[in-house]
Amino acid sequence: MSDILMKADHVKVYFKGKNKKALPVKAVDDVSFHIVKGETFGVVGESGCGKSTLGWTLIRLLRPTEGHIYLDGTDIAGLKGAELKAMRKKAQIIFQDPSACLNPRRTIKEILMEPFEIHRLLGQMDVDARILELLQLVGLDEYHLSRYPHELSGGQKQRIGIARALALEPELIICDEAVSALDVSVQAQVLNLLQELKQKLGLTYFFISHNLNVVYHVSDRVGVMYLGKMVEIAAYDQLYEKRYHPYTEALLSAIPQVGEEKGQKRIHLEGEVPSPSDPPSGCRFHTRCPKACDRCQRDIPKLREVEPGHFVACHLYDIP
Ligand code: SF4
Repeated sequence: MSDILMKADHVKVYFKGKNKKALPVKAVDDVSFHIVKGETFGVVGESGCGKSTLGWTLIRLLRPTEGHIYLDGTDIAGLKGAELKAMRKKAQIIFQDPSACLNPRRTIKEILMEPFEIHRLLGQMDVDARILELLQLVGLDEYHLSRYPHELSGGQKQRIGIARALALEPELIICDEAVSALDVSVQAQVLNLLQELKQKLGLTYFFISHNLNVVYHVSDRVGVMYLGKMVEIAAYDQLYEKRYHPYTEALLSAIPQVGEEKGQKRIHLEGEVPSPSDPPSGCRFHTRCPKACDRCQRDIPKLREVEPGHFVACHLYDIP
């Protein structure tokens, strides 16, 4: 177990409704999984399934309603104040929109100094040298230090976002749609950079993307989310060979290299995704599942190991 960096244990994140009578939105509902040191754990699922809420909760930008989150063996779910601040040195985030997450009134140098200011490390280390080192790591140079964010391209801004996330030498990085806002040609460069940094610095990624192709191919293991629940978790190779959950099957059939080239036709799901404030009873997928039966409307399926390291939440694979 010592190689587990992060463990989510029955994590729930509910948001209150707009008024007292409104039902809470169950954005993440009883999710358990772990992330091994040095791996990329990818998360796929439709918009609104709770991927980003889960990512933000893992580094405590959001507080879980229930459950435990262990980072390096310490439960961070209830941390506050100085302890929470200290935890943030170990886990950082790269946001989707680099234009929105960089202060337009600060130069790149000032932006990269922020983590050292917040953690009161100025004076304790040669910050100027560290900032130059960070710029080099992300493929930029001293010239960019005096620039403002609006003077940089989208790809360069995202490189600054990555450099800022790396500043305090974290172990875990949440990549929240980190390439989604970039042009396709730039996406590949930034993905390659993230892969290089992972190797060089021994990083661990929790990689969220709505682009199935991207998340599928950068991940060592993949978690599939549907309406706040994790419905399948497996290594990339396992998922490539066999998808058990009907939702995973439909989702991955949309990736040509995975589905269509293997002779699988694209599966089109019927119906709308139900509201997370009033999810269906039983299996949340039953309103759209072609294999649903009466039991699916009644019982919530649990994640079970159907083969070593491959977990599925579906009654079809319940082990007696
Ligand atoms: Fe479909 Fe039933 Fe399995 Fe849910 S539990 S995915 S509804 S077969």
